Amino acid sequence: MLVKRAGYKRKWLLGMAGTFMTLSLLCAGCGFQGLTGTEKDTVSSQQEESGLPPGEAQVVRDDSVKYSVPEGVSVLMYHKVGDEKHNGAVISARNFERQMKYLKDHQYHPITMQELHDFVTEGKALPSKPVCITFDDGYEDSYTVVYPIMKKYRFPWTLFLITGMVDQPGRMTWGQLKEMADSHTVTIANHTVSHPHLSQLKSRGEKEKEILNAENTLVEKLGVRSPWIAYPYGDYDKEVLQICKKAGFELGMSMSDGRAHNGSDPFTIRRIWIGNPVDDKHFEDRLIHDNFVKL
Ligand SMILES: [Zn+2]
Repeated sequence: MLVKRAGYKRKWLLGMAGTFMTLSLLCAGCGFQGLTGTEKDTVSSQQEESGLPPGEAQVVRDDSVKYSVPEGVSVLMYHKVGDEKHNGAVISARNFERQMKYLKDHQYHPITMQELHDFVTEGKALPSKPVCITFDDGYEDSYTVVYPIMKKYRFPWTLFLITGMVDQPGRMTWGQLKEMADSHTVTIANHTVSHPHLSQLKSRGEKEKEILNAENTLVEKLGVRSPWIAYPYGDYDKEVLQICKKAGFELGMSMSDGRAHNGSDPFTIRRIWIGNPVDDKHFEDRLIHDNFVKL
């Protein structure tokens, strides 16, 4: 079955257009810019050609896959792939590929952010043995290692991008990101401009700039409007949540341990750290239990 999703973001698009216009007026001089008519036309023509907006993973599943409402979904959290030992945020390419093979061999079905959202907020059915795969930050290996592996397995995944770090050493380039956005194999989402502890920023305006300027850059560079955000370090406060809700975001990722359930707060979705110490036994534990063994 080919699941295509087009047009579902109409409310978001309208909402963001309104937000951009309002903020452009309010923020004259603060660096936040609304969309120009040409940019809007470019975004909509890209959407019409593919049937999907740029930066949204297309899901390809066999007709035989059964759907039901699961008890919970594990949202796996990865950052960097490489050989740095003693760094909990880095997993080896070998271990990462082994985990993706494990998912394939055990009939797990990776889901998109939209599917996660619809399950959490509406209790919509998901494919059997669902799992959600996320990568944070935008390291170069997300393009050189993760992207080809996920294409090979035809697994949708989500990349939360720090927009201000793109084109820096060790990070992805806008060219690579554009290729990925247009491939419809990965969902590209917001991880702020500079990866601050949002709750520690001094003013609401600074928090807005981190979140909304990243969104504006995703639109300008990739034609991506993301209703999904991951708070750097999983750090947020009431003001951050207010800003995200007002701007039209629909899911916010934290870094608290646990799984997502129907009825979970969509703005504080729990995620599960995965690193080199997570062997097959602990990986399985993390895929099916809320109270998985901590490592
Ligand atoms: Zn991060």
